[in-house]
Amino acid sequence: MNKDAYQSIKLELDSKQVALVAVSKTKPVSDILELYDLGHRDFGENYVQEMVEKATQLPNDIRWHFIGHLQSNKVKIIAPFVQLIHGVDSLKLLKDLNKEGEKVGRVIDCLLQVYIAREETKFGLDEQELSEVIRLYDAMVIPNVKITGLMGMASFSNDMNLIRKEFRKLKEIFDYYAGLPTTDSRLTTLSMGMSSDYKVAIEEGSNMVRIGNLLFGERTAK
Ligand SMILES: *Cc1c(COP(=O)(O)O)cnc(C)c1O
Repeated sequence: MNKDAYQSIKLELDSKQVALVAVSKTKPVSDILELYDLGHRDFGENYVQEMVEKATQLPNDIRWHFIGHLQSNKVKIIAPFVQLIHGVDSLKLLKDLNKEGEKVGRVIDCLLQVYIAREETKFGLDEQELSEVIRLYDAMVIPNVKITGLMGMASFSNDMNLIRKEFRKLKEIFDYYAGLPTTDSRLTTLSMGMSSDYKVAIEEGSNMVRIGNLLFGERTAK
């Protein structure tokens, strides 16, 4: 764990009121504890099993962010404790989350993932699908799940202009839905930016970044 990197990134983000999710996937609980001891509480994982295993070994005031692709059959495992699910991309998943949220008496916050990159491999809703999901969500009564914002990943590229364009697009979409007076979804969180592009993301209006490598060092596996 890189203490100096954490402290300088944290200072920078605090001054801009941007939230930091420390992405601890593949890293041992000892790394998480080091950051925890510096006062950090928001951690991101992208595998359900790994997140649960870590959560059971670590203090329970950690706020766990699920940043991977969530499958419906895994929802009930994380419903009792997850803080925020970043990558929701279907109405079915919202309904499943609502059902499990109801069972455990929680309102589960989620971000809808919007597809902004060029690669085919990334998950997310296109603009049309996003509009449809929000419309249907607003028309339904599913009080145990709440859409609190949007999440997106830029292309895996060195072309900062391309990345900037993609983030700018997502911010426009976010502003549009955040500004709608009629919607039940109260969009306040815009999760965009990772180690390689978080500065650009913030310049383009992100208010939550997900950073792994810069804090914990390069991942070797997964
Ligand atoms: C791994 C991951 C990150 C963090 O990536 P780094 O390059 O380590 O900062 C952010 N978001 C998602 C969705 C991830 O899977």
